[in-house]
Amino acid sequence: MIIIKTAAINILFFASLLLIGCGNETKTSASNTTNSEVKQDTLFAIQNVNIIPMTKDNEVIENATVIIDNKKIVGINEVIPEGAEVIDGTDKWLIPGLIDMHVHTNSDVNFKGNNPTQGATFFMDTQEVMTTHVANGVTTIFELGARVEHFGQRNDIAKGKVIGPRMALAALINGGDPNEGGRTVTNESDARQAVRSAKAEGYNFIKVYSQLNRESFTAIVDEAQKQGLKVVGHIPDAFKGATEKAFIPNFGLVAHAEEYSKQIRNKTKTKKDAELFAKMTKKNKTWVTPNLLAIVKIRDQVQSLDSIRFMETLKYVHPLLQDKWLTSNNYHKHNSPKFLGYLDSIISFHKELVKAFKKEGVPMVAGTDAGTSGIVTGFALHDELELLVDAGLTPEEALVSATRLPSEWLEIDKEIGTVEAGKFADLILLDANPLKDIRNTRQIAGVFVNGRWLNKEKIDTMLSNLAEKNEANKENFKWEKRREY
Ligand SMILES: [Zn+2]
Repeated sequence: MIIIKTAAINILFFASLLLIGCGNETKTSASNTTNSEVKQDTLFAIQNVNIIPMTKDNEVIENATVIIDNKKIVGINEVIPEGAEVIDGTDKWLIPGLIDMHVHTNSDVNFKGNNPTQGATFFMDTQEVMTTHVANGVTTIFELGARVEHFGQRNDIAKGKVIGPRMALAALINGGDPNEGGRTVTNESDARQAVRSAKAEGYNFIKVYSQLNRESFTAIVDEAQKQGLKVVGHIPDAFKGATEKAFIPNFGLVAHAEEYSKQIRNKTKTKKDAELFAKMTKKNKTWVTPNLLAIVKIRDQVQSLDSIRFMETLKYVHPLLQDKWLTSNNYHKHNSPKFLGYLDSIISFHKELVKAFKKEGVPMVAGTDAGTSGIVTGFALHDELELLVDAGLTPEEALVSATRLPSEWLEIDKEIGTVEAGKFADLILLDANPLKDIRNTRQIAGVFVNGRWLNKEKIDTMLSNLAEKNEANKENFKWEKRREY
C-alpha cells in the first residue's frame, strides 16, 4: 500500500505454504489429456434465470435459458442440448464474473537467500491462494506487482489444474533506492530500457510507482505507448504541486483515489480539489481505480488490531500472514490521533473524488489492493462495491465498474465482462437481485469460472477445507521465524 512507503513492495514477498495432502482435489487426470489440460464436464444449461447482462443497455432478460459449452456461452434462450447438466435458475440472477483491478497475489518466495538452484524455499499452494477469489465470483484479477512466479500461477489456471481467475500481469517500475529491489530507474534511458525488458519478459502492462522522478515517469509512459503496453499506477510524489504534469498520454489508470490525496497531503482537501483532479483526469482520458476499501481497512487496523483479530474472513488467510498482520503490522505501529484524523479526512475526500469522477465522466473500475494487510482476496471486492455505492454510484454503476469496464480497459472485452453468447462463461448465479441492493452480490448460489461450474456446496467445501487447514497449522507459522522456513 501507499501510506507506509515500502509496504506494497513487501507484499510481493509474502507467501503461503503447501502441506502435502490437501488441495489436490482438482489435480486429477491432467496427464491423460492432450495439451495437458484437465478434462471436465463442459455442457451446461442454466434454466429459468434472470440475466443481468451488463451490456451497455443492460436490459434484464427474465426467465431465460443460458447454454454453456466448452467454456463459452453458446446460446441464450435456445433449446437445451441433450446431455447438458441443467442448473435451476428459478428466482436467481445471473451476472458476469467480477474483475478485481488491483491485487497482490501470494506466491512462492525465498526467505533464506542464495542457493542458485533453488529460487524459492517457501512454497504455496496456488489453489489455496485462488480459492477465495473464485468462491466470491472473482474470475479475473489484475496483478499490480507481478513477478515470474505469477506466470506459473497463470499457466496452472489456464491448464485447468487450478480453479482460479484469469490473471493480467503488470510489471512494477519504481525509482528511489535500487537496494529496495525490483526494477528501479532514475533516468530516461534506464526507464525506457526497463519497459522494453518488461515487455520481453512477457508483461502486457506496466505499473508506475511513487518514487519515480518526473523524467523517468514520463519516459516510462511514453516508451510503454511505443511498445503497445498500457500504464497503471501511482502518481509519483515528484509531481506534488504540479499534478497535472503527470497526466500524459498513455497514463491509462490511476491505481488508488489516494494518489490524489497524497498530492495535497498537507493541505485541507476540498470539493474543489476533487473537481480539479477529476477534470485533469478526464482530459487525459485516464481511468481510476478508487480502491476505497484499502484506506478504510488501514484506518481500522491503525486504530485497533481487533479489526483484524475478529475479522470473519481471517480464517481464509494463510497462517503466516495472519501472524504477520497481527504481530508485525506496519499500519498499527503508526497509531496516533493525528494519523487517524488524517485517514478520516482522506476517507471522506475519496468519496468526494468518486462523486467528482462520476460527474465528470471519468470511468471507474473496482479494485481492492487485496493481499495488503487486512484485505482478504475475493471477499474484499464485495466490500469495495458497497463502498462505491456508499460514495454515490448506483448499484448498476458499481457492477459496471467490476465487469464490463475493466474488461474494456484490459482489452479483453471480446472475451469476458458481459453475459452474451460468444463470451467465456465467467458467471455468478445470485440468489437475489444486485441491482436492487449491491450487497446481494454476496448471495452466491454458484460460480462459473472459465466454463467450470462450482455450485454452492462445492464453494462451501473449498472454503471450509481452507479454513480448517489454516487453523490446524496456526502454530507452525510465525512471521518472526520466517527465515527458518
Ligand atoms: Zn497495490
